[in-house]
Amino acid sequence: MKNMRFEAIKNIVNNTVKYEVKASDKVSTIFNEHVFTLKTARHYLSDEAYKSLQASTFTGKKIDRSMGSNIANGMKAWAEEKGVTHFTHWFQPLTGLSAEKHDSFFTLKGDGTPIQEFEGAALIQQEPDASSFPSGGLRATFEARGYTAWDPSSPAFIMEIGQGKTLCIPTIFVSYTGESLDTKTPLLKAIVALDKAAVDVCQYFDKNISKVNATLGWEQEYFLVDVGLATARPDLLLTGRTIFGHAPAKGQQLEDHYFGAIPERVYAFMRDFEQEAYKLGIPLRTRHNEVAPAQFECAPIFEEINLAVDHNTLLMDIMTRVAKRHNLHVLLHEKPFAGINGSGKHNNWSMSTDTGVNLLAPGKTPKTNLMFLTFFVNTIKAVHDYADLIRASIASESNDHRLGANEAPPAIISIFIGKYLTDVLHQIEQRVGGHFDETDEAMLKMDIHKSIPELMLDNTDRNRTSPFAFTGNKFEFRAVGSSANCATPMTVLNTIMAETLKSFKKEVDTLIEKGEKKEVALMHIIQKYIVESKKILFEGDGYSKEWELEAEKRGLANIKTTPLSLDAFNSEKAKKIFENNSIYNHVELEARHEIMLESYIKKVQIEARVMGDIATTLIIPAALNYQNVLLENIKGFKEIGLPASSFENQKAILEKINFHINGISKGITSMIESRKKVNEINDTREKAIAYCDNIKNAYFDEIRLHADKLELLIDDNLWPLPKYRELLFLR
Ligand code: ADP
Ligand code: MG
Repeated sequence: MKNMRFEAIKNIVNNTVKYEVKASDKVSTIFNEHVFTLKTARHYLSDEAYKSLQASTFTGKKIDRSMGSNIANGMKAWAEEKGVTHFTHWFQPLTGLSAEKHDSFFTLKGDGTPIQEFEGAALIQQEPDASSFPSGGLRATFEARGYTAWDPSSPAFIMEIGQGKTLCIPTIFVSYTGESLDTKTPLLKAIVALDKAAVDVCQYFDKNISKVNATLGWEQEYFLVDVGLATARPDLLLTGRTIFGHAPAKGQQLEDHYFGAIPERVYAFMRDFEQEAYKLGIPLRTRHNEVAPAQFECAPIFEEINLAVDHNTLLMDIMTRVAKRHNLHVLLHEKPFAGINGSGKHNNWSMSTDTGVNLLAPGKTPKTNLMFLTFFVNTIKAVHDYADLIRASIASESNDHRLGANEAPPAIISIFIGKYLTDVLHQIEQRVGGHFDETDEAMLKMDIHKSIPELMLDNTDRNRTSPFAFTGNKFEFRAVGSSANCATPMTVLNTIMAETLKSFKKEVDTLIEKGEKKEVALMHIIQKYIVESKKILFEGDGYSKEWELEAEKRGLANIKTTPLSLDAFNSEKAKKIFENNSIYNHVELEARHEIMLESYIKKVQIEARVMGDIATTLIIPAALNYQNVLLENIKGFKEIGLPASSFENQKAILEKINFHINGISKGITSMIESRKKVNEINDTREKAIAYCDNIKNAYFDEIRLHADKLELLIDDNLWPLPKYRELLFLR
């Protein structure tokens, strides 16, 4: 009999690093090589077309149709010089992944003459057959049309797969009736909302500011396993995580992996995907080992948020593809292995002005200090007021395994700001009766600028356990899952910030109209916001039991599962804020809620099936085989007339195995019964909750426990699934 596991192990030794990575090119020479940047566009476009593209890039303004063909021709000329034959609209449907449908430049003229053509209309808009993407009922089946429309604020790029090259046009994806069917459309709207609200508030400080860009720097964590070993694990292939598997004798307890030397095979892979990323203009900067064995991280220099989100989506795709060349398999799942750390995607977020100021960087003068305090405190207020939306924005079946699992941010949303800023806010709050006058100049002169970076760099003031932490000149949203598309959490963050800034402005203006000096009015509302939102601030250990209790006392929510946390998207409060800021209308919001619940249901359902399959067709047969070996052995003892005492141990093992086989069988049988019942529930929310409580929570751990015990009992030669020790310790 063939044992997949041993085949795979043998192959690792044979296959290790066949792929030669050529010496790294200097990054600056290949950076953006495959991107139609404005600089490149300048060489291929007429003055008029270039100006039109430039304006659209910066303002997001629609390209006018007459310019479309001109730009399309320029793009085609550039792309063809690089060997491109096809183009595609590249978009991010609600699966969270990217999607593309390639069309050739090649076409036939009326008289049959073959030509290469790329028309303006094809650049600006396409109608992919969209009926198979999740829509939450937005597109009635008789009207399955959705269309993609060019987003000129994210430049076109060339995707290289093997020898094939495709020109990719970043697009939004909307239904025929105009509702968004993707993650980019709402993000772009939220960017506009924040820009407007932030610029209005900036006017208190600097009339020259006319644009505020949200910025994002993501940190992508991932695991790498040998592709052969991954292929021998149906759970890894189908669900992205190990549903079974006993912890290895050595895990991460020695802490010898974090920032350790990168294994050579992994290093070759990293260099390879980094080269691909640079050509696409993804400014990767950092690479290192992470805490768990076989876990790694990469991070770029931060960028404008829409571009940063596109780049992250693109990178996840590139990593997955390039890994194949190295016989590696990338795991982006939040919790691929039980018992060791999971993966996240820290979203470092800030806002910067067109005058070059980072609004979350403490200022050097009293005036800029006040501007910093304004945006800093408004962020705290936004997260406080809409903590439920922040929580919902990171909810997914896979992230549920990680949040609150002792090594990842808890499901309780809180903010860490460090000791120094806690003191600053405390001082402002303590100003009795909110009495601010000229003497406050002294307070505003506090050397926030100098003190913060120093304190932030000091490790004692860096709290790794907070889901949302201020880290010197940006907030770091740490609860985002490693497999997530950043667009949704960033859409929510930008929207709640826009809404909060609008209210802030209204309140400050009211005080100014009543005759208060501008600075004093600002300080009054800042003080008010500190008082109203201070309960969300927490400096202690977010992983601790005490925090759960304390948070409960403070009235902070602690919703551990996806179906319930998604309720926040369906509340009146959510409808109001999203509609007020033109992000989602209530139809879109309801559709999204439905899609997210459905995705949850399907994922649990798939895991339950995979669990049944693996247990029944791989684990139990292996257990029975070993039982047969033991039975033969016992029979032999009996045949030569030895007493029962001489094979007691064999009998004991036999019984233990039987116990666990029965445990698994019973579990699987009643889980299937339970699924039949749950599948009859019509209401999507009820059904998702039932999948969570009556399937996942009721059976997964118990069935796994029995299977993992068997792994420890059964002859290693008979065990069919690659073990944790093999998956995690790459050679
Ligand atoms: P770490 O958090 O690991 O200490 P850094 O502080 O250097 O690392 O930055 C982490 C990420 O934060 C990087 O991707 C970086 O580009 C990003 N970042 C830095 N400044 C900003 C900013 N103003 N806006 C958004 N992201 C930022
Ligand atoms: Mg970080």
